Amino acid sequence: MTSESMKAIFKKVGIKNTSQRQSVYLYLHDSEEPLSAEQIYMGMSDTESVNLSTVYRVLDLFVKKGLVLKSNLSLEDKATYEINHMEHRHHLICVKCKAVVPIKGCPLSGYEVKLAQQTQYKILEHHLEILGICPECQKKE
Ligand SMILES: [Zn+2]
Ligand SMILES: [Zn+2]
Repeated sequence: MTSESMKAIFKKVGIKNTSQRQSVYLYLHDSEEPLSAEQIYMGMSDTESVNLSTVYRVLDLFVKKGLVLKSNLSLEDKATYEINHMEHRHHLICVKCKAVVPIKGCPLSGYEVKLAQQTQYKILEHHLEILGICPECQKKE
């Protein structure tokens, strides 16, 4: 992800390009999993002088503009953020520690086609979350 392509993304949603916004976006973009604001802040503070409230402000803006997805999984302070790739995603969620793992691919894409044929519906979207207990939490049980 280049600085230029981020600039283009910001322009598209009508927000100003700043180095802090680029840093937050890039950090999230390079992450394999959804991150909390604290994790982003900690990760960024190695390379950039930024404070946590700025990270929150930038994230809020990104969420409002649809660039970033926020998952509010029951606990307020456990909100996690991930880049909105505009692609269809499902998540596996640990009910104990609220860890969120994105699932690759969609198990329902074939089913949607079949359902559309059966019902004559034009299918628009679906949501699916899978709940479970992660290996870490199973060990603690
Ligand atoms: Zn867990
Ligand atoms: Zn799906």
